[in-house]
Amino acid sequence: MRYHNPTSFEDAVGIAAAAQGVTRYLAGGTDVLVQMRAGMVLPDDLIDLKNIPGVHDIAQTPDGGWRIGIAVSGAELGAHAGLCADWPGVVEGMELVGSTQIQGRATLTGNLCNGSPAADSVPGLVAAGALVSVTGPKGVREVAVQDIPVGPGKTSLGAGEVISGITLPPRGAGGGDAYLRFIPRTEMDIAVVGCAVNLRVDGDTITEARIVLGAVAPTVILVPEAAQAIIGTTLDDAAVDSLIAAVTAACKPISDKRGTAEFRTEVAGVLAKRAARIALERAKGA
Ligand SMILES: Cc1cc2nc3c(=O)[nH]c(=O)nc-3n(C[C@H](O)[C@H](O)[C@H](O)COP(=O)(O)OP(=O)(O)OC[C@H]3O[C@@H](n4cnc5c(N)ncnc54)[C@H](O)[C@@H]3O)c2cc1C
Repeated sequence: MRYHNPTSFEDAVGIAAAAQGVTRYLAGGTDVLVQMRAGMVLPDDLIDLKNIPGVHDIAQTPDGGWRIGIAVSGAELGAHAGLCADWPGVVEGMELVGSTQIQGRATLTGNLCNGSPAADSVPGLVAAGALVSVTGPKGVREVAVQDIPVGPGKTSLGAGEVISGITLPPRGAGGGDAYLRFIPRTEMDIAVVGCAVNLRVDGDTITEARIVLGAVAPTVILVPEAAQAIIGTTLDDAAVDSLIAAVTAACKPISDKRGTAEFRTEVAGVLAKRAARIALERAKGA
């Protein structure tokens, strides 16, 4: 295995584009090093991204959004007061990943590119409308986070492409988000179901919403019908019933040792209701 330590994304792309065999990037390493140790992945080229300038930075953009470096850890996100105030749902998704030790290394980008449908930080990013910068042999393109995973363990990234940053939009007035997951124990487990809700209110009325489910389909799914069920409402009981109906209709889960398809579908409705209520309270307090 060849280990590379580039100091620019252009160099990383050059190495990846020239590589012939199995290539992996090294961010926190909490997926890729575990997979290597288990013999599941044996990269010919391992490209460490942590020494590229700017990858550990969190910065506000001129429009009031946020730019998050691809090597920022979960612990660093959780310690950033401005980001936590604007996007608590995004941060709490990442903070559910693993343990204190894992938090010190694991990144949003690694969680996204590992391609798990149960990845805890991805629903919050999709609900927020986050974009990633994809740097490749043909330059840089901006891609919506929901367009990166295409199936379990698979992404839409082409040969030689690397994610070089994450952008969250400006929070703006009256906005709130939240992420909840169900696991059989209190920590260190994979989501049986996850749900993120991002919404905006004008007074008591919801004017915008994005609702995203994890672990109930081959990728994280954005559910526009669920958003429509609560837009124009105060999240009254009738709206909650419509929300649950829309969420349950969107679920296409598998049954496995952690939960049956029927159980996952029911839990998705419960989490959507609870996450929507938390996001609404946050939006009203914003
Ligand atoms: C004990 C333990 C508990 C865990 N608990 C959870 C949990 O509760 N929830 C959860 O969702 N996950 C969990 N995980 C999985 C893992 O911690 C997360 O997926 C983490 O966010 C991965 O980030 P990383 O930076 O460590 O990724 P890495 O391991 O460095 O990389 C992961 C993948 O992403 C690719 N990649 C990394 N950076 C880039 C980039 N910039 N551009 C393109 N591709 C890139 C790599 O090639 C690799 O395929 C757990 C793992 C362990 C070991």
